[in-house]
Amino acid sequence: MTAPPTPAVPDAAIRLTGLQKTYAAAGQVPAKHALKGIDLAIPRGAIFGLLGPNGAGKSTLINILAGLVNKSAGRVEIWGYDQDVNPRQSRAAIGVMPQELNIDPFFTPRASLEVQAGLYGVAPRDRWTDEILALVGLTAQAESYTRQLSGGMKRRLLLAKALVHRPRILVLDEPTAGVDIALRQMLWDNVRALNAQGMTIILTTHYLEEAEEMCDEIAIIDHGTLVVRDRTAALLARADSKTLVIDTGGWAGAVPTLPDGVSIERRADGRLALSYAPVRVQADRVIDSLRGAGVPIVDVVIEQPDLQDVFLSLTGSR
Ligand code: ADP
Ligand code: MG
Repeated sequence: MTAPPTPAVPDAAIRLTGLQKTYAAAGQVPAKHALKGIDLAIPRGAIFGLLGPNGAGKSTLINILAGLVNKSAGRVEIWGYDQDVNPRQSRAAIGVMPQELNIDPFFTPRASLEVQAGLYGVAPRDRWTDEILALVGLTAQAESYTRQLSGGMKRRLLLAKALVHRPRILVLDEPTAGVDIALRQMLWDNVRALNAQGMTIILTTHYLEEAEEMCDEIAIIDHGTLVVRDRTAALLARADSKTLVIDTGGWAGAVPTLPDGVSIERRADGRLALSYAPVRVQADRVIDSLRGAGVPIVDVVIEQPDLQDVFLSLTGSR
């Protein structure tokens, strides 16, 4: 039987169906059911965030995509190619920057990229080594020994290696964990530029503000199970509470009655904090009722829930 034809442009960059992974027991370490049946489609062109607490299974999932870990069950399609049916095409479609540094210390960055390109069967005339070196800011170090590079430069080289075969999908596993601000900025600039050229980006990160800022869509996994998957904005809206913090200029009158669903407290600094669910109550009604009660409004600050709140409420951990 031949494989079904693959669309030139698939509807999803990645499609996972019932993906499971059980690591076998080894010595004292018991078997671990690290992925318990993940169904997930990642749209083309997205910057997609894969979040979850430590040990959730993020790296396992990514390493399966990368072909570094064998899945135990389920289906993995990369750019429309079933990983088991079309291993070569599915591998060619994806580039992975792993969480662990795995760089040969005796190669120069240039040689590392050339070797990597060779592994992916990229013909010499199709290589773009110099452009990649420039992109990640390693042009000056192109001929240095990798063992002489700083940790940050090694991470840049990891990103560079993921790009040699011009993958349609770039996967970054905790790319900014423990890196300095300059490198983090460089990574995000690169990611945005590559995405603007049409590359689908999948990243895991511990930094929720970063995911909130970078990612169009987010999936949260916990204990090997997909907890939620939604557009970032929709996810934030799920934390269904907003707080209006009102500076009354020292007003000390009795706290007025407010519409149903609004709770009010006076903070230690004298400001009034009104919390409400935006799906049920509108901010202007809250403000109107304060005005109606004669409360002076000198200044208003809106405190929004952030991804951390959503994350905690869904996973119960940080
Ligand atoms: P994350 O990247 O979300 O922190 P991982 O995918 O690294 O999570 O790990 C998921 C679970 O699988 C953890 O309990 C981890 O200890 C376990 N695990 C990861 N790799 C292995 C391995 N090679 N052998 C056995 N267990 C593993
Ligand atoms: Mg990990």
